[in-house]
Amino acid sequence: MLREIPRVVRLVRAPVPQDLVLPVEGVRPEELVDTWGAARGDGRRHEGIDIFAPRETQVLAATGGLVVRRGWNELGGRRVAVLGPGGQYHYYAHLEEYGDPKPGNWVEAGTVLGYVGDSGNAQGTPTHLHYGIYEITGAVNPYPRLAFTPRPLAGEGPGVRARQAPSPSP
Ligand SMILES: [Zn+2]
Repeated sequence: MLREIPRVVRLVRAPVPQDLVLPVEGVRPEELVDTWGAARGDGRRHEGIDIFAPRETQVLAATGGLVVRRGWNELGGRRVAVLGPGGQYHYYAHLEEYGDPKPGNWVEAGTVLGYVGDSGNAQGTPTHLHYGIYEITGAVNPYPRLAFTPRPLAGEGPGVRARQAPSPSP
């Protein structure tokens, strides 16, 4: 693991990517709903985005980086975390199953990390990926970096904003 340190330092010093791979296979940016900050009943606020898709849909790494966690907790169920460029921590939760990457493995943007499910406190709700991004200072909203077309055609402005619709879930 020690010989990984220079690579980790390069990763943490790299610029934060403004465009992310949409981390659920087959979902289009305009399908996303921004539920950042939505109340969750027990005083918590929603610190991420829920991306709905059929069970077993591939969950993709939004960025390259180092897998730092893969395991179960009560809230997130089966979840995977990847340390990404700029030191941001990318959290993928409620997985049905894990993909191949394990802690200590490097992944590229688009690598399959797992499969959509309803594990943890999402049990029994429509299957979705909960995707969160954390910085040292706390969570940041992934939505703006997912919902805009990364490279709009000339003259089309900053991209197409996703529609808004309420769709709370854990
Ligand atoms: Zn969520």
